[in-house]
Amino acid sequence: MAATHSTRMLVLGSGPAGLSAAIYGARAGLAPIVVQGIQPGGQLTITTDVENYPGFRDVIQGPWLMQEMQAQAEHVGATMVWDTIVDVDLSERPFRLKGDGGALYVCDTLVIATGAQAKWLGIPGEQELGGKGVSACATCDGFFYRGKKVAVIGGGNTAVEEALYLTNHSQDVTLIHRRDSLRAEKILQDRLFKHPNVNVLWNKETVRFIGGDDPSQGLVGIELRDTQTGELSVLATDGGFVAIGHHPSTELFRGHLALDSDGYLIVEKGGTKTNVPGVFGCGDVADKIYRQAVTAAGTGCMAALDAERFLAETDFEVEPA
Ligand SMILES: Cc1cc2nc3c(=O)[nH]c(=O)nc-3n(C[C@H](O)[C@H](O)[C@H](O)COP(=O)(O)OP(=O)(O)OC[C@H]3O[C@@H](n4cnc5c(N)ncnc54)[C@H](O)[C@@H]3O)c2cc1C
Repeated sequence: MAATHSTRMLVLGSGPAGLSAAIYGARAGLAPIVVQGIQPGGQLTITTDVENYPGFRDVIQGPWLMQEMQAQAEHVGATMVWDTIVDVDLSERPFRLKGDGGALYVCDTLVIATGAQAKWLGIPGEQELGGKGVSACATCDGFFYRGKKVAVIGGGNTAVEEALYLTNHSQDVTLIHRRDSLRAEKILQDRLFKHPNVNVLWNKETVRFIGGDDPSQGLVGIELRDTQTGELSVLATDGGFVAIGHHPSTELFRGHLALDSDGYLIVEKGGTKTNVPGVFGCGDVADKIYRQAVTAAGTGCMAALDAERFLAETDFEVEPA
């Protein structure tokens, strides 16, 4: 028979947001259960060097940081469950959620920290050169391209913001767009067009990322196809930033919680409350602007504190199974 897990605080997701919520929830005596999902440790487990998480002077490794966060959460009393939630009933408290294998989770409060995945182009070389020149996060990786040539692929706000951000590190930034105009807000476009270090390549489709003959070279160029003439060309570059948007992991909550037009969880301004009392959102799943480990951890802390306050204000408790 499938297990039933009852808890004061259920956390969905084991990235920086979920694990920070678990640390704070456990220290508040809520004995949280963390459902880890298909990517235990979250997005940082698929990267290597992390140079911007506070507290570490030397470069640290993403997977190591997440192992440490998990160990800390367990040390203070959180329980990890390797499962993925496939169904939710938030119509009344206690909330009821179902795991992949049929396990039932019953909780007084729910912290959603399911993250958002970068959209990729799905072209040759992208996966192989991921972290070796190909990236989806200029804020995370831009620093590694000081004085080098970089290219950003996309035409919306994210692409223009990433290109402008990269000018802090590179004097040679190319924005590649497959159309002849950008979707980004006018003010961002004005800033981009005025920038002396940004060049825009219009009507160019990205065909493949090209690695050097010696694998240690990583990315050396991007093959492009002109959408008007079909002509192929190669842009020599050290970094290729794919900036075509993100998919927040919220399909599960459609019809249960308020989502914005891009599918992000809507939380109260400056807080983590969703439109359902007792349900809180944190990390990238509710953040389309910052998307950093440290901001995810910060809002994870906020979600746990909000959940703890919510419980203190209600006299509601689930009987342990
Ligand atoms: C390649 C790469 C490099 C990066 N480098 C940096 C960096 O150097 N510095 C930095 O600050 N940020 C970096 N980031 C961004 C950073 O990783 C994210 O901002 C951060 O991980 C977001 O944390 P999160 O907890 O909100 O979500 P995530 O880390 O995305 O975690 C989401 C969690 O939710 C779980 N989940 C999803 N659906 C379900 C479900 N149905 N049931 C249960 N669990 C579920 C997943 O298994 C996962 O554990 C990088 C991102 C990438 C992709």
